[in-house]
Amino acid sequence: MKIIMLGAPGAGKGTQAKKIAAKYDIPHISTGDIFRANIKNGTDLGKKAKTYMDQGLLVPDELVVDLVVDRVAQDDCAGGYVLDGFPRTIPQAEALDKALAALGQKVDYAIDVEVPDENIISRMGGRRACVGCGATYHMEYAAPKAEGICDTCGKELILRDDDKPETVGKRLDVYHEQTQPLIDYYASAGILKEVDGTADINDVFQTITEILGA
Ligand code: ADP
Ligand code: ADP
Ligand code: ZN
Repeated sequence: MKIIMLGAPGAGKGTQAKKIAAKYDIPHISTGDIFRANIKNGTDLGKKAKTYMDQGLLVPDELVVDLVVDRVAQDDCAGGYVLDGFPRTIPQAEALDKALAALGQKVDYAIDVEVPDENIISRMGGRRACVGCGATYHMEYAAPKAEGICDTCGKELILRDDDKPETVGKRLDVYHEQTQPLIDYYASAGILKEVDGTADINDVFQTITEILGA
């Protein structure tokens, strides 16, 4: 099962992608996580990506496409995967389709998690990320057991630089301009599934499992 998660920044793509990956036992591939790991490790890719991410802009297609195409060709992806945060532009979607077609494969579902901009602003303000393992929490809706501490690894939880209000507005503009057109792209391909992302985390997941079956 090859799944793409669509939706605005903060819509809940990552939250749902992790649950899908666990339930169906397939890899969760988050391009945002890959970039953040590269930044943490001080790689060249990380240095290049950071300048864009800090401004709320997309990293150029040429820095992300090969990375994802290589990743989905790895053995652990043979039984499917859930892509979170990719594609984010029409050229990325076209490049993915082309690479998959060459392998005789295609995307099965594009799940659009719909959340209005008004809700996004408050969601992002409450999002906290673990500096150790990258796990995501929300101060109100997905709180850790101990305030400010990761349940999984015990490290500190922080507000991501790009989740500060001044950057969130820019990211929403970028989303509407460059990523939202993918909704029509996957609707035309006949694989778009829209879910209401304003519901509770578990209710959103329930709807998704009904779409995916089992
Ligand atoms: P969110 O989960 O809030 O939508 P991500 O963690 O997916 O954010 O991405 C964080 C940042 O990483 C994006 O704002 C962008 O700068 C960069 N990024 C992630 N994925 C892509 C992509 N497919 N194309 C271009 N930039 C990307
Ligand atoms: P994305 O990957 O789309 O950027 P996340 O999965 O990181 O979004 O979710 C953004 C924030 O909102 C996180 O703090 C997360 O815990 C919280 N969140 C996710 N889904 C819901 C939901 N259905 N209701 C309330 N908060 C949610
Ligand atoms: Zn952690």
